[in-house]
Amino acid sequence: MTRRIGLLGGTFDPVHYGHLRGALEVRDCLDLDEVRLIPSARPPHRDQPGATAQQRLAMVRLAVGEQSGPHGGLVVDDRELQRNKPSYTVETLESLRGELGNTVTLFMILGWDAFCGLPAWHRWEELLQLASLVVLQRPEQDQDLPEVLKDLLAARSINDPRQANAQHGQILCLSQTPLAISATHIRALLAGGQSPRFLLPDAVLDYIETNGLYRPLYRRI
Ligand code: ATP
Repeated sequence: MTRRIGLLGGTFDPVHYGHLRGALEVRDCLDLDEVRLIPSARPPHRDQPGATAQQRLAMVRLAVGEQSGPHGGLVVDDRELQRNKPSYTVETLESLRGELGNTVTLFMILGWDAFCGLPAWHRWEELLQLASLVVLQRPEQDQDLPEVLKDLLAARSINDPRQANAQHGQILCLSQTPLAISATHIRALLAGGQSPRFLLPDAVLDYIETNGLYRPLYRRI
């Protein structure tokens, strides 16, 4: 049978239960063999992350460690840290296609906010030649969809996950269990000296505390 692989790229600054739950629900809904979490080394579309690429990768590894085993299906893919240049998703997909071949079915998973920003991405129109898109609703979403994406949705979207069988080129919008968790909020809690516990795995929070991440500078001294 054709392998079905989900891909969730992100800054993961830090990884949290919104990412992990989303990955798991897409895996189950689309009957995927695995979902790869792919930390971005140098995100081209945003400010410099609060943690280094190696620290963000380490946190994703810790988070996925809790999900490993026969029912896990979440895997960490560090290929963007191996490249010494900005992390363009289209190049990541090309590299995955080069490695996995054209017969695997690839699903690129995006939150609604990321999907709305797609037209600013490098060579974005080629993404659908390499993978299908799975767009996750986010409870706090307030972005309007650009016209060009409305047209794309009209042309490419499918309503039934059971139709998600093309190797690439389809768009499926899914509602996951709504979790109004964002890395921005977690960083703000930590910067304000409050606890983000229960918004992210304990192992990730322990790592943040051990390494003094996201604290105002005066607290690190
Ligand atoms: P930040 O607040 O720093 O922008 P974030 O919480 O949005 O970070 P990212 O690493 O930027 O996290 O997100 C990676 C991907 O996961 C994006 O496509 C994003 O839309 C999606 N995502 C993040 N949090 C959620 C959530 N709570 N529910 C659904 N999708 C999410």
